[in-house]
Amino acid sequence: MTAPYDLAVVGGGPAGVAGALSAALRGLRVALVDSGARLGGQYFRHRDAPGEPATPGFERFARQAAALRERATIRLGHQVWAVTRDGDAFTVHCVGGAAVRCRRLLIATGAHDRPLPFPGWDLPGVLTAGGAQALLKGYGVVAGSRVVVAGTGPFLLPVAAGLAAAGAKVPGVYEAGGGLGLARHPLLALGKAGEAAGYLAALARRRIPYRTRHAVVAAHGDRELTAVTVARLDRDWNVLDTRRIPCDTLATGYGFVPQIELGVQLGCATRPDADGTPVLSVDAAQRTTVPGVWAAGEPTGVGGRELSEIEGRVAGLSVAADHTGLPGAPGILLRRRARLRAFAAALLAAYPVKDGWQGWLRDDTLVCRCEEVPLARIREARELGATDARSAKLLSRAGMGWCQGRICGYPVACLTGGGQAAPRRPVAQPVPLAALAELTLEEPHD
Ligand SMILES: Cc1cc2nc3c(=O)[nH]c(=O)nc-3n(C[C@H](O)[C@H](O)[C@H](O)COP(=O)(O)OP(=O)(O)OC[C@H]3O[C@@H](n4cnc5c(N)ncnc54)[C@H](O)[C@@H]3O)c2cc1C
Repeated sequence: MTAPYDLAVVGGGPAGVAGALSAALRGLRVALVDSGARLGGQYFRHRDAPGEPATPGFERFARQAAALRERATIRLGHQVWAVTRDGDAFTVHCVGGAAVRCRRLLIATGAHDRPLPFPGWDLPGVLTAGGAQALLKGYGVVAGSRVVVAGTGPFLLPVAAGLAAAGAKVPGVYEAGGGLGLARHPLLALGKAGEAAGYLAALARRRIPYRTRHAVVAAHGDRELTAVTVARLDRDWNVLDTRRIPCDTLATGYGFVPQIELGVQLGCATRPDADGTPVLSVDAAQRTTVPGVWAAGEPTGVGGRELSEIEGRVAGLSVAADHTGLPGAPGILLRRRARLRAFAAALLAAYPVKDGWQGWLRDDTLVCRCEEVPLARIREARELGATDARSAKLLSRAGMGWCQGRICGYPVACLTGGGQAAPRRPVAQPVPLAALAELTLEEPHD
């Protein structure tokens, strides 16, 4: 069977849209598939509502998305659970049975939040920083009325500023890192200090304290969150002293985990990113190690929406070059990508996760929430010989539930001391058995 599309793109964020558009503009038949209701990915997750606060870069993205709609097939609300190879064609399988056949594939699936466990983190009212941001941007829902924001990394700033602007009372923003990240890295200081300073000024105007070397180490409440324990930390994140802060919501995040399952399924090689997180290896043209498969944006390393867009453009132009023989990405684009990658590496180095968080846990703290596996069971698994997340999973069931280790994979890897391994799942997303039974093929856009 022939493949109707020259390129299928999985992911409609900045990387996927730029990649799809670059290829479509050069005459390729392109399909883009995204599980969301709108194009935009995590950063441009905007409602169609008047008076939305301006997001830097949104107008440009909206123009790209409009141009793409005229030139490509776009399937929203389609979650891809697997990609299979059949000769020189790929089939992209979506939950619900739809399938898209293509000759080339671009993986632009972004990343998901990386939370850390602590006593009480499974209480209603505790959510990830990205989750709070997604509720606000995507649905105009303010996660709570009194929201503590905690974790590490610059992402905490827009989350807190956005919540406060939307009417939430934010008692404090607690950054576990030392806070010298920006100053220590000239690249960061040049590129992003202005943006960070804007958020800090917005917090200061509302008298919201921003405390470095502080973290939420416990959440309290009988049926839902009523307070958190905030600790002052030493440089390794060991607790020095604590105080309790009343709140109904906690938004917490310790960075992001790139979504690389589809690439790993297809046999694409991975490499550890600057912080040890596995990401897809790509060459200068964003080609993975599997012929016919490209990757762009956060699956190749977390670096923000501008880097994602540029990688998407490089990938789209490279796919087009493969198809048409026209030249790939110009040098100016590659140089911009190099600058942004250096910035991304500096950012990861500026906000490391320190081992001291493991001391915040008690024996009964759930590490895997899906399977309700407490720390004590992970320790037992370790004593029985588990040396990484995979062997701990076999002995304790951590990571065997609905999220398949997306949430607990990182902490379990840290607790077993085995480093982070690439997720090897034949099914990238939870899928009903019925999805395996029926497949229909998409036709190309006219
Ligand atoms: C929850 C969350 C919120 C964020 N909010 C912000 C923010 O407010 N500000 C900021 O600067 N940065 C934010 N980020 C960081 C942000 O992800 C990046 O800076 C930028 O959006 C990356 O662009 P991307 O195209 O690589 O990936 P994304 O924008 O994440 O786009 C990936 C797309 O792939 C789709 N996708 C993934 N897997 C599948 C699948 N199996 N099937 C179908 N579709 C799939 C997703 O629905 C998504 O639309 C957020 C990250 C997360 C995880």
